[in-house]
Amino acid sequence: MSNSTLHASYSSASRAAGALAAALQVLVARTGADPDLARALARIDTTEMKGVLDAAALQAALAEAQAERDITAALAERCLRREATGAALGTPCACTHSAATHAPRLTKGGRLPCRHTGCGCDDLTFR
Ligand SMILES: [Zn+2]
Ligand SMILES: [Zn+2]
Repeated sequence: MSNSTLHASYSSASRAAGALAAALQVLVARTGADPDLARALARIDTTEMKGVLDAAALQAALAEAQAERDITAALAERCLRREATGAALGTPCACTHSAATHAPRLTKGGRLPCRHTGCGCDDLTFR
């Protein structure tokens, strides 16, 4: 590699690191002044995250976290109902459709309605 190529590559790496340092300096200053922001950032595990944290990436991460929260809450509710009735894994709902055929998220009223066309079952029920 020629000296001028090395120079260009080190200069470019230095500019990128400088931009990152400046961005992190903003966060260090803001989190130092805002404990809520500091706590929120401390709760974000970046292990699985890729790319920049711009508004679009934040919205995507938010939507993903909300979906995971809702879907796992519905799965937990399904387990709770199964446990309460002693129903074995794979036991269908009273409407004869599988638990998986029911809503993947709880309704506002905490129900898991059946999604099978024309079924009309309002809430997953094991017997
Ligand atoms: Zn049902
Ligand atoms: Zn059904």
